[in-house]
Amino acid sequence: METKEYSNGEITVLWQAEKCIHSGICVKTLPKVYTPKEKPWVHPHEADAAALKDQIEHCPSGALTYRMDKPADNEH
Ligand code: SF4
Repeated sequence: METKEYSNGEITVLWQAEKCIHSGICVKTLPKVYTPKEKPWVHPHEADAAALKDQIEHCPSGALTYRMDKPADNEH
């Protein structure tokens, strides 16, 4: 399955298009980060890592996941 990656230097947003059920929850929660009409449609610089993590954990399909870019901030 293809995974798209979007990094802001602190956190990388990972998105698997095939899993996305287009609920739009990500867009409603962080409209500056997720702009479905644009390419690329994810702009991780528009939010900090904490806001992105919180939102990604609410993605109902599991299409969105994340990876911390800085080892010091890695809680996983
Ligand atoms: S919240 Fe998850 S399932 Fe819903 S549109 Fe965003 S990526 Fe897709």
